[in-house]
Amino acid sequence: MLIDAHAHFATPDELPARAHVRTVFCGTDPVSAATALSLRSENRLAACALHPWYADRFTVAELLPFIRESAALGEIGLDSVWTDVNMAVQREAFAGQLDLAQRLGLPVVLHTKGMEGEIARTLRGYDMPKLVHWYSCEDYLDEYIDQGCWFTVGPDHAGNPAVQAVIRRVPLDRLLTETDGLDAVAWALNRPATPDMIGETLRGELRAIAAAHGVHPAEAEDRVAENLERFLSGHGGAGL
Ligand SMILES: [Zn+2]
Repeated sequence: MLIDAHAHFATPDELPARAHVRTVFCGTDPVSAATALSLRSENRLAACALHPWYADRFTVAELLPFIRESAALGEIGLDSVWTDVNMAVQREAFAGQLDLAQRLGLPVVLHTKGMEGEIARTLRGYDMPKLVHWYSCEDYLDEYIDQGCWFTVGPDHAGNPAVQAVIRRVPLDRLLTETDGLDAVAWALNRPATPDMIGETLRGELRAIAAAHGVHPAEAEDRVAENLERFLSGHGGAGL
């Protein structure tokens, strides 16, 4: 079973291509959160929360009904690169949602762009399972690994040394695959994305994981599938 641990829904056309892909659809605002929840099925889960890009447009309270129905709380975090949303506003939404996740016993999915150092320090105060999505920073990786964080491999791994470092240095029992959705695949590969690229992208990530960790791609696929269930069930395993 292929795993897409973090995806934004783009088009109904992608659903047939996801028939054999266990997918966590992410809702970032009230509209996309309602969509993510409506798409749930045996192999489709939802992770909803207030995304840092929208922290000045909506409140955590508005997302709460969607968060309560979610398998994980996310994506949440801070971003100093791709948004102009005031950092104090972002921090308030981030801290509030970390506290909420801790209270509700939900794992969290993290967006860390440009704020990797601060987020690594903040996370030390929380012990729920933590998944860092598409980590692509050359620094601070060990500060997340030390905390037992999970990581998704970004679709741009072939050309991104920071993502390659994640594949190489994160233990195999903490690695997951993701597309971030078809729009992100198109962005990462710099060409229009079609639904068949979902499976292709995830299998490419599995091959890279398998090569780095010295296992067969089929074993990497099984391990990644187990990792998602462990992340969602809150069982970190030994060493935490
Ligand atoms: Zn995302």
